[in-house]
Amino acid sequence: MNVLLIGPPGSGKGTQGERLAQRLGLEHIAAGDLLRAEVEAQTPLGRRVADFLTRGDLVPDAVILGLLMPRVLAAADASGYLLDGFPRSVEQALEARKLADQADAGPHAVIYLDAPRDELVRRILARAEIEDRTDDNPHTVGNRLEVFDDATRPLVDYYRERGLLHVIDANQDEDAVTAEILAALDGAATG
Ligand code: ADP
Repeated sequence: MNVLLIGPPGSGKGTQGERLAQRLGLEHIAAGDLLRAEVEAQTPLGRRVADFLTRGDLVPDAVILGLLMPRVLAAADASGYLLDGFPRSVEQALEARKLADQADAGPHAVIYLDAPRDELVRRILARAEIEDRTDDNPHTVGNRLEVFDDATRPLVDYYRERGLLHVIDANQDEDAVTAEILAALDGAATG
């Protein structure tokens, strides 16, 4: 099975992505983690994207597609993928689809983690106390939520129209969110 996990910053994509991948035996591909690893290792790609991450802007489509699509196609060919943080715009989805359709590697279900804005801000600023991310600060949070609303939210309609969307209430404790997602995927798998 191939699953996409989309949601605003702070909605729990990372946490849920890891759990679901493990529970379902899928490869967890996390766009943000892969980008941060490139920045950390100071690769040419990492140097190119560092400022985008710090500002909370999307990195260029060609960069993210080049980084992710080989992994996505390989995972689809193996045990399936749990893809978190990609696509983040309808343009990315259309580009990815061109490549995925040829390989029969498209998503079977799309999970949208929904939570109110004040809860998202609270979680991100709480995480800032624990993790050392350049984008988890009061200054950048507003921009990230705006980028989500402008670029990523239109994907909700895009996937709803394709009959793949499952909206999950992410404003619950982590175990309840995981259970709700697993139930939705179970329903999707059994039709
Ligand atoms: P969050 O959803 O909390 O912002 P992520 O780790 O998913 O955390 O993403 C962190 C940053 O990585 C984004 O703000 C953006 O700069 C970059 N990024 C992640 N995924 C993509 C993508 N699909 N396209 C462009 N940029 C991306």
